[in-house]
Amino acid sequence: MTRVFTGISDLFTPARRLGDAAMVVEEGVVSWIGPRKELPLSYREQPHQHLGDRGVLPGLVDSHTHLVWAGDRLEEYRLRACGARYEEILEAGGGIYHTVEATSRASSETLLELAEQRAEIFLRGGVTTLEIKSGYGLETAQELRILEVVRALNRRIPQRVVPTLLAHVIPKGWRRQAYLEMFTTELIPEVRRRGLAEAVDVFCDRGAFELQASRSIMESARHHGLSVKAHAEQLERLGASQLVAELGGLSADHLEQTNEQDWRALARAGSVATLLPGATLILGKSLPDARGMLAAGVKLAVASDHNPGSSPLFSLFLALQLAIVLAGLSVEEALMAGTRHAALALGKPELGNLEPGSAADFLVIDGRNATLPLYTWGQLPLRQVFIAGECVCSLA
Ligand SMILES: [Zn+2]
Repeated sequence: MTRVFTGISDLFTPARRLGDAAMVVEEGVVSWIGPRKELPLSYREQPHQHLGDRGVLPGLVDSHTHLVWAGDRLEEYRLRACGARYEEILEAGGGIYHTVEATSRASSETLLELAEQRAEIFLRGGVTTLEIKSGYGLETAQELRILEVVRALNRRIPQRVVPTLLAHVIPKGWRRQAYLEMFTTELIPEVRRRGLAEAVDVFCDRGAFELQASRSIMESARHHGLSVKAHAEQLERLGASQLVAELGGLSADHLEQTNEQDWRALARAGSVATLLPGATLILGKSLPDARGMLAAGVKLAVASDHNPGSSPLFSLFLALQLAIVLAGLSVEEALMAGTRHAALALGKPELGNLEPGSAADFLVIDGRNATLPLYTWGQLPLRQVFIAGECVCSLA
């Protein structure tokens, strides 16, 4: 099926910007894009879908979320607002462990419903692809159950879902070595056997996994044909970014404590550096030097890190706005960080892009200028969301 879209006043691919553009979509994939006047003759005869002289952006890709959880962390939020530290709360058995308990008590149906409601908010916020991590299960059966919920969610929602197995923290009552053994010899192979995740992420930090343990997990993941990534250098610089680079990982995320050596290593390896401004700000930290990262040649992505503790953030556009004002990204760089580079952080170059051969996932902006959603805060001027060339959400 062929669809021809015209009435596009301003379009970001995101690498190119076109005025008065047209786009042709065949079988859900962009087959032609360019100035309307240059639309090939064969397409001119076909009925056009006129978008009303509005801006168009690629659908956003949120490359880092923890969408499946139950309970809330309001009490922790209140304590942190009074000065309590995230690490102290985690060490005292709260934080992530609190969510693990609430999640394990919730039925799979409840988890699915909660995640579906959140995914709907992300859809209305322009996110057409969601990476979703496990990690609030910890024990084998619970981790597998969460990934099964992610699989069921993928069948229920219009967005594309990319599932990731997360090595989050050592569960209470487990010896470190025994857990590591279980994770690498039981959980990773079983996740692989059931086809439940595309990548394995390790929270390599103080209070979670040290560098050597992170290496064992990532090497096991690679041995089983899964991609690797890490929560790296958020609280302390343990060397996770360079480990991701050494193992050819997809992305290193957080990076608050990184330095130039780390950025160069990521750049050389082609691993994406992902900033998570929601978590950075909520935990009272500073964003890493994004301009320095870009100068080192790193591809920069920005994600929501949606989770109940350190980033109860439902808006990727807000994360991009924060990256513009606090990390010094240009509007164009922020756009790239929420689309094309985020897709590369998932190993999916066909997403986050509106060039021939890319998936036709795009947003119709409620205005002529496509960058409008990066300008207004708390009010999203979005009209329609398309996935694979089909309108899946109308907001006007
Ligand atoms: Zn995270």
